[in-house]
Amino acid sequence: MLDFSMTIGGRKVAGMERFAVYNPATGAVVGHAPNASPADLDDAVAAARAAFPAWAALPDAARAAACAALAAKLGEQAEEIARLITLEQGKPLGALGSRFEMGGAQAWAGYTAGLSLPVKVIQDDNTGRVELHRKPIGVVGSITPWNWPVMIAIWHILPALRAGNTVVIKPSPYTPLSTLRAVEVMNGVLPAGVLNVITSDDQLANIGAAMSGHEGIGKIVFTGSCATGERVMATAARTMKRLTLELGGNDAGIVLPDCDPAVLAEGLFWGAFINNGQTCAAMKRLYVHDSIHDAVCDALVAFARGVKVGNGMDEASVLGPVNNRMQHDKVSRLVADATQTGRVLLGGAPDDGLFFPITLVADLPEDAPLIREEQFGPALPIIRYTEVEEAIAAANASENGLGGSVWSRDIGRAKEIALRLECGSAWINRHGAIQPNAPFGGVKRSGIGREFGEEGLAEMTDMQTLFC
Ligand code: NAD
Repeated sequence: MLDFSMTIGGRKVAGMERFAVYNPATGAVVGHAPNASPADLDDAVAAARAAFPAWAALPDAARAAACAALAAKLGEQAEEIARLITLEQGKPLGALGSRFEMGGAQAWAGYTAGLSLPVKVIQDDNTGRVELHRKPIGVVGSITPWNWPVMIAIWHILPALRAGNTVVIKPSPYTPLSTLRAVEVMNGVLPAGVLNVITSDDQLANIGAAMSGHEGIGKIVFTGSCATGERVMATAARTMKRLTLELGGNDAGIVLPDCDPAVLAEGLFWGAFINNGQTCAAMKRLYVHDSIHDAVCDALVAFARGVKVGNGMDEASVLGPVNNRMQHDKVSRLVADATQTGRVLLGGAPDDGLFFPITLVADLPEDAPLIREEQFGPALPIIRYTEVEEAIAAANASENGLGGSVWSRDIGRAKEIALRLECGSAWINRHGAIQPNAPFGGVKRSGIGREFGEEGLAEMTDMQTLFC
């Protein structure tokens, strides 16, 4: 049994109570995590506040070196943590699964360690000198979801630490173990209290909500659903917390008529089905021109048939189960409705336990819930269009605006269309590809702020303008 402790002020804290974490592939208990009380949260915030002055006062190069050491440390334990991710999250060890996630975590950590925010000289002439300084905020509270637990934790932790803040992180109750272990490992190279982790089942106490309102936390970086993001924003208002909110998406892909369906199939498939569709910037609606619609459907079905779904610990699995019952129920509801109003090309009915087959559905009405709502699971609606203006309007007719893509041999034309999509990231001939130097985030109800690159690092700071 895998039982981990919280790390608070560099010490292991078991907590008064614990909760079980389940393997979504088998239903078996993987291990237990501490169920933090509000007093544990106060302790974690106090530890982070105590560690802040010394961490913030370190020379910039020393903090950069500590962050680089942290990235290396994570690399040493990558296989162990990857296995934990598979056990509690469900994604396979191989393919675009948990080893891939750990590779991403290391890449982001290493890149972010090397970033810096030098003083910007706004004016320097005989009337005076004006400088813009970036200063750490204090304690950053990080709240993470269950889909890419360690990679998203790194997206939050590294820029916060690199900019001179200290951190309290709270992972999802579905995937706490990999974060508990990753933080324990990273504490091996950090001063006590700089990085703290607490875990909660959200029942004994809602620690995420308590963090959002906590007087001792200066900023919340939150990745999760739109509904919870709204709650975080409302609760954070009273203390005027700085916020980065990375929320849900309902990304559209638009395939133009000049495409070769056979060439496209693999890219379209992984754009939609990476991590079983449980990815914020996965393609969740696919608009295909009438002239190649049926050929694209056939090519996608043929590709999907070759993808092995199974227990993530089996090296042959390429996709795993859905992570949790609530998410499985949501996908089941959306697909059950779609089977009534559309044409199921593949899959369609839930499998045993939390498994759900790769599902492709065509010919749905425009207002089908599978098109309108974020499915966050392995089911893709394919929608026929005749005029590209129709497809652009439909893609933009969403309250979300995380990502979007255009697929064409004519890059110039694709670019024109991509720039008209109302979303934070737009891709041409791929979907959902992210990288540590390119700002990522949503427009409309998909969130506020950006992660990654210098822009993401800057969000972990407050500005001070100095008039010399
Ligand atoms: P969720 O909103 O249910 O939970 C996210 C986190 O919030 C968890 O740690 C949870 O414990 C915590 N939480 C619960 N109640 C809270 C409250 N009142 N205040 C503060 N925190 C609280 O989301 P989820 O189901 O874990 O993740 C799936 C969603 O996340 C999807 O909508 C997906 O699109 C989105 N997501 C977005 C991104 C992105 O970068 N935009 C990335 C991954 C996931």
